Amino acid sequence: MIIEIEKNRNNSPTLFGDFCYTITLRFSLHSDTIIYTHCTDYPRVRALHTMAHYDHTSLEKKWQKKWAEEHTYRTSEDTTNPKKAYILNMFPYPSGQGLHVGHPKGYIATDIIARKKMMEGYSVLHPMGWDAFGLPAENYALKTKTHPKTSTDDNVARYKEQLSLIGLSYDWEREINTTDPAYYKWTQWAFLKMFEKGLAYESYEPINWCPSCKTGLANEDLDGTVCERCGSEIEKKPMRQWVIKITDYADRLLAGVDALDWPEQIKESQRNWIGRSEGAVITFRIKNHESRITDEHIDVFTTRADTLFGCTYVVVAPEHNLIAKHESGIKNQEAVKHYIEITKKKTVIERTAEGKEKTGVCIEGLVAIHPLTGKELPIFVADYVLGDYGTGAVMAVPAHDERDFAFAQTYGLPIQHVIEPLLTQTEGTATFRIGEPAVDSYGIIALVKHWSEDTYIGLYWSEAEWGTLLTGGIDDGYTAEETVLKEIREETGYTSARIIESLGVIHSKYYHHPKQQNRIGHAATFIVELTDDTQEEVSDEEKEKHEIRWLTKDALRSFLTATSHLQAVTFLDTRLYTDDGILTDSAEYTGLESANAREKIVATLEEKGLGKKTVKYKLRDWVFSRQRYWGEPIPVVHCDTCGVVAVPEQELPVTLPDVKQYEPTGTGESPLAGIESWVNTTCPTCGGPAKRETNTMPQWAGSSWYYLRYIDPHNSTALVDKEKESYWMPVDTYVGGAEHATRHLIYARFWHKFLYDIGAVSGEEPFVRLQHVGLIGGEDGRKMSKRFGNVINPDDIIARFGADTLRVYEMFMGPFDQNIGWSTDNIMGARRFLERVWKLSERVRDEAILSQETEALLHKTIQKVGDDIDTFAFNTAVSALMILVNALEKEPSIPVTIYRTCLSLVAPFAPHMAEELFARHGGEGSIVRAPWPSYDKTKCVASAVTIAVQVNGKMRGTFTAEVGISEEEIIARAHALPEIKKHISDKVVKKTIYIKDKLVNFVVD
Ligand SMILES: [Zn+2]
Ligand SMILES: [Zn+2]
Repeated sequence: MIIEIEKNRNNSPTLFGDFCYTITLRFSLHSDTIIYTHCTDYPRVRALHTMAHYDHTSLEKKWQKKWAEEHTYRTSEDTTNPKKAYILNMFPYPSGQGLHVGHPKGYIATDIIARKKMMEGYSVLHPMGWDAFGLPAENYALKTKTHPKTSTDDNVARYKEQLSLIGLSYDWEREINTTDPAYYKWTQWAFLKMFEKGLAYESYEPINWCPSCKTGLANEDLDGTVCERCGSEIEKKPMRQWVIKITDYADRLLAGVDALDWPEQIKESQRNWIGRSEGAVITFRIKNHESRITDEHIDVFTTRADTLFGCTYVVVAPEHNLIAKHESGIKNQEAVKHYIEITKKKTVIERTAEGKEKTGVCIEGLVAIHPLTGKELPIFVADYVLGDYGTGAVMAVPAHDERDFAFAQTYGLPIQHVIEPLLTQTEGTATFRIGEPAVDSYGIIALVKHWSEDTYIGLYWSEAEWGTLLTGGIDDGYTAEETVLKEIREETGYTSARIIESLGVIHSKYYHHPKQQNRIGHAATFIVELTDDTQEEVSDEEKEKHEIRWLTKDALRSFLTATSHLQAVTFLDTRLYTDDGILTDSAEYTGLESANAREKIVATLEEKGLGKKTVKYKLRDWVFSRQRYWGEPIPVVHCDTCGVVAVPEQELPVTLPDVKQYEPTGTGESPLAGIESWVNTTCPTCGGPAKRETNTMPQWAGSSWYYLRYIDPHNSTALVDKEKESYWMPVDTYVGGAEHATRHLIYARFWHKFLYDIGAVSGEEPFVRLQHVGLIGGEDGRKMSKRFGNVINPDDIIARFGADTLRVYEMFMGPFDQNIGWSTDNIMGARRFLERVWKLSERVRDEAILSQETEALLHKTIQKVGDDIDTFAFNTAVSALMILVNALEKEPSIPVTIYRTCLSLVAPFAPHMAEELFARHGGEGSIVRAPWPSYDKTKCVASAVTIAVQVNGKMRGTFTAEVGISEEEIIARAHALPEIKKHISDKVVKKTIYIKDKLVNFVVD
């Protein structure tokens, strides 16, 4: 049956000077299309080729089999190739549910990059493996009543099968699995090295305990104060555990962040997680009920030593040892003990929630001595201070700290202001010019309140177009108070003003534009009330300058221009000021700016032996033990004689015993503790009886260094061969979810730095370039989850549309790092695009010539697709390919070399189809060994342009012109177009508008 007849004029004239026509007949026979072409110049019908339908299923199967048989993606071990690319995905945690369509997005992206790099002649390392220890796997095993080893193996097999369907260019000979003893031998080895260096230690500090997961957790495993996995509120539980001293690396982890080519927000998360703050530990000595200065003292950590003179009391956490030590000296012992008991029942979130009413008890019988003024300060025990943060005690400065402010208000404690605001104008013409000299100026700001309404005077300066409060300079011989009253009278005429309250001085740095001068203004600020509306006449000069507006507090906020005036309005609500400023009421430090004052005050304290400059980190040591079964055993034994002893290196790995019972005990003891045959061993040092450590490592241990093992996965004598490591590392492109911004990426960076320190690796940072992948949501816009019933399985999509279509669609959906919802309707667009690429092959001829325009487009496309792949702009790369295919479809025929080039561009996205067509059109070997197309820059410039022609602004026609033709010529050709002639006819052209390479517009009557 004939399904299509097509008639094409060939570009080249025949011998007789005439054009020849090709008539193509397409017959359908079974599922194939047979194409016969009859050429008018060559009167013989010949079958050019038989073109099968695009049958993705058989084709994808065929190529996946061939790739596996021929080891197409085996990593080149040629370390003499100076071009190497280590392209890596964060390896998956194989869950029981298998992959949904969201998971492969990152894998497809790295696959595209890896394939392009292979074509560019790089040695490419593109491996895959499994992060399979940990709670999710163990919980799944418990739920399905299988052994975690069995369920993990099943899950891995399922994941691998799913990934294989997508046609990813992994070198499966390098597959790793963190639960494989041959792998975790090296996780244990690294742990022992840390133990050797004193970086792994036992601790009895209270740790985060998840009652539902029945295990201790690291800070990184929490989401605020709840377990990140199950959402349970965590408890603080004192228990023996292993801890890794990651804090020793805090400074280096922080310093290394800047140089990384990572998304800025991930770098910022790392900085915040490490949380470096410079401050000081300040010592408050204690005076007891006998009025004797004791040897005891309270140390507080503060970043705000500049506020020391504002400290009006001291607070210790209920866990602080002061209370136990001074039990007998505390007069209200009962009340204090009772309070501590209540606190124990509260969670961290209950204790520290914002807006929560602050509670506490004053410790009677003890007072703290202010280290600089010698004043006696009350000591409170209060639960808003946590025992395990900082020193477990704070110096309370209620005027300049939010929580102290709330507490002081509740308990009626003195609030002492010692920091006056210092604001810097950073916008508009008044922007302070940093680095230029500044002149001090003194003045007043007055919030003048209406006699009967809740409004204040705002002055609108029409010339400058700005709004201010009542303000003015202090003249010689006047006090600030006198100036306030004088200014009110002069500027507004009101005479019944009365000062109600002084709000201290507000300082501001700004540029005085009219006087062309940098200034530091010091404005004494007051609340003033008018008792009645008595008003004198105001001079015309004043009236001209500004007008009076009565405004509410809220209206003032949008009316005022200067930050210092806005600060005055804020003071109407609260005098709490928490930023840096200028010191007041602080003895010899008064008048200094905060930063300078901190240095000087800490220096004085250091001299007196009552303080020390300190750097603190938010980063805590890594709680490294889990009281669960499914993890790497910690390779140490406990001997009564020798204490903790490392298992000798040659005895590694310490394998996880195969057991029937692995349910968590919930008591804080690992299920391994019950397996006597495994637990009881001999001490490697003294040969006496010893017990194995029964805690296991956290899930994050094995994933902290896995990228190194891919380089040398079967090495039994070293974690990784040094020469291979120095060739492949660092990872050039690393792709994974943004949720790993801190945990995995902090641990891995730490682990790598440690390995660097012991000479096991050659560089300090493992991942040079990181890109995070946006999620794919469900069609309903929600997160894709079994719970919402909106999970789409990639296997189904592949069966229906093909892996190549899935790949193209996921890359075309939108910007790579954005979260986007799945749409099965839209996937048809990707499918149609591939069908068009497929169909183009019907037009391929050995001797065809491409039009200049399309050739130029081809070069532009090569450039764009290459650049876009390099910058993760896959969506725009696909659309560039679509545009190219559009143009090729308009060509009567396509030269075979051009078609192969086009296939090379498509290959990273749709490798199965590209391989098939490449083979059919004379390509030799796999297309990943074909060179990545190069482009000619000069040809990227279009040789022809389309000129739009308008008459009176209305589009009336277009024509194509070669680039570089003169303006006159273009206008003449435009004028000569029949459709333009029709519209102009006998009218006079009054004006001709010409835009180069774009448009001609004739303006007629
Ligand atoms: Zn939990
Ligand atoms: Zn021993």
